Amino acid sequence: MEKKVVISFNISKEQHRQYFKVPFDVPKDVEALEIAYSYSGDQADSIPSEKKNVIDLALLDQNGNDVGASGSSVRQITLSESYSSPGYKKLPITEGKWHILCGVYMIKDQSLTVTYTITFKFKKYRYLKGDTHLHSIYSDGVKTMQELGVMARKQGLDFMIMTDHNSAIHNEHLPDIPHLNIIPGVELTHYYGHVNLWGKKLPYKGSFAVNSFDDFKSLIEEARQSGAIVSLNHPYCSLCPWRWDLDFYRDAIEVWNGPMRLDNMKTIEWWRSELLSGKKTTIIGGSDYHFTFFKIFNFFARPTTRVYAKANTKEDILDAIKKGRCVITDSAKSSMIYLSSGHNVVGDTVKLTENTKAHVKVDKLKKGHTLIVNNQHGQVFKYKAKKTAPFEKEFDITEKGFIQAEIWRKPNLASRLAEFGVRYVTKQKGLFKKIPKLIFAITNPIYFE
Ligand SMILES: [Zn+2]
Repeated sequence: MEKKVVISFNISKEQHRQYFKVPFDVPKDVEALEIAYSYSGDQADSIPSEKKNVIDLALLDQNGNDVGASGSSVRQITLSESYSSPGYKKLPITEGKWHILCGVYMIKDQSLTVTYTITFKFKKYRYLKGDTHLHSIYSDGVKTMQELGVMARKQGLDFMIMTDHNSAIHNEHLPDIPHLNIIPGVELTHYYGHVNLWGKKLPYKGSFAVNSFDDFKSLIEEARQSGAIVSLNHPYCSLCPWRWDLDFYRDAIEVWNGPMRLDNMKTIEWWRSELLSGKKTTIIGGSDYHFTFFKIFNFFARPTTRVYAKANTKEDILDAIKKGRCVITDSAKSSMIYLSSGHNVVGDTVKLTENTKAHVKVDKLKKGHTLIVNNQHGQVFKYKAKKTAPFEKEFDITEKGFIQAEIWRKPNLASRLAEFGVRYVTKQKGLFKKIPKLIFAITNPIYFE
């Protein structure tokens, strides 16, 4: 949803070398602001002359403070909390009277018309795509954060969380990539297990290097107190599993790490048993991207976590993750499952009434893929697609508990390679043993009370 406001006015030659404030009202609930401007006889460069028109652009917020300035070098700027054009602050677009600064640097005409087009992009609940687990050259990755950001936009991601191992230094150097929200994080990495701490530039003080589970838990607790979100990473990974007791505080479980393989399926089954025992912990996915295997197998943003949030800000995304408003999909472009009950989405708790219904929708369920909806007793229903097509179904909810949906498929080349690689590296028996069906997309539950 967006709204455009056009402001046009004349400048006379007498206003030469003056600044003018052009007021405009920012309405409520704006996520991003775009300002474009144009004027006749535009011949902008910085060489002074009375024979050309040059109008500069700058912006003041609702308190009259500088937001930024771009001289006459650009004709369009974007501003938001997670990304702003170079030269402008990243900031919330707060309701109130803001001002465009019109700088009349050079003017040749008696009168000149300047036109500003202001576009307000409103906050709106939607699924935002992101990768929650990434490594750069700041730890053992091979890409710079800038390169990762470019890859993220290419895949159509809205956000990415940087989680280099045991170091927060990268968080001081997060790059600015147009329309990408880059969230700080650290993968607290121990020989006995890994956790991601999201949202804080420095989630704990002192050192990561501890030698007991109690001290490790203290670091997690400190991060949590500072406002970081805690994710238990790849607990059943054959290479770097969780070796301590699994009973400790976390906001999320990374049930899907890198390409789908049996290690991830084990984690999903463990999470399912946790869910059946009454524990409501958000599931998320993260690619754990370090490098592209053999320069061709690129698992960046695989899987993708889709987060239902009102705005693409750090707070909104982390809050939605905490609430379980997430769906994990094989990639940023693969089949998405929309599971809802009235206005409620995954992660929400719905009050059960006599006619509570739930709705499941997949835009493009691929041929041979099977959509399954589960509740606390097992499968509610199952549908195998005979051809690639949209699928939609409404069904009644008659009992307290939960529902949750997933898509299953036969293993593909990526999962076969990943599985083979893990078996080879960890010297497992049965290198070529058959791989059963794997999950292709999975939702968090909707709970009914
Ligand atoms: Zn890890």
